[in-house]
Amino acid sequence: MTGHHSNSEIAVRVRRLEERLIGAGLTSDDQLDGIIGQILSGSPANGARVVARAWVDPAFRERLLVDANRALDELGLSMSTGPQPQRLTVVANSATTHNVLVCTLCSCYPIGLLGPSPSWYKSEAYRSRVVREPRAVLAEFGLVLPEATEIVVHDTSAESRHMVLPMRPGGTAGLGEAELAALVTREGLIGTAAV
Ligand code: FE
Repeated sequence: MTGHHSNSEIAVRVRRLEERLIGAGLTSDDQLDGIIGQILSGSPANGARVVARAWVDPAFRERLLVDANRALDELGLSMSTGPQPQRLTVVANSATTHNVLVCTLCSCYPIGLLGPSPSWYKSEAYRSRVVREPRAVLAEFGLVLPEATEIVVHDTSAESRHMVLPMRPGGTAGLGEAELAALVTREGLIGTAAV
């Protein structure tokens, strides 16, 4: 034994686990395919669409901040990765408050909407440090905030996921919704970038 596991060995193990779960009546092949399909359909572009709509439509922005899941429905988007959709809370940045997301316990993330999280989000260093010294961590990401700006760190739980609504950048008055969406990055939706 070398301790080396090829991808095919892992695939065999995963399939064995799936068959045990299916055999125990806990899930089905169709349900597993559905979950994987939902995860793969998630993309930061979905979050960017939501943000751009909120920037151009103040009434949508209000609905988004009150009940994000219902607002996603309006755009044909969802948080679903299985039978029970996760609750999404959208937190809006302002001139006085900047929001940033973390899961200190593990790596919870709105996968159904945004796709897989970046590897740094799952790192021990980010998870432990952003809570203690958010300003320093954000500066390392290249985001230097004014001293007067309050930084609010949202620790995600298994039941509820968050997404940041960045501030609309200046000089974008003439842009349409699609052009605005193209400005929004995954880091902006997590809060480690301004947009
Ligand atoms: Fe987690």
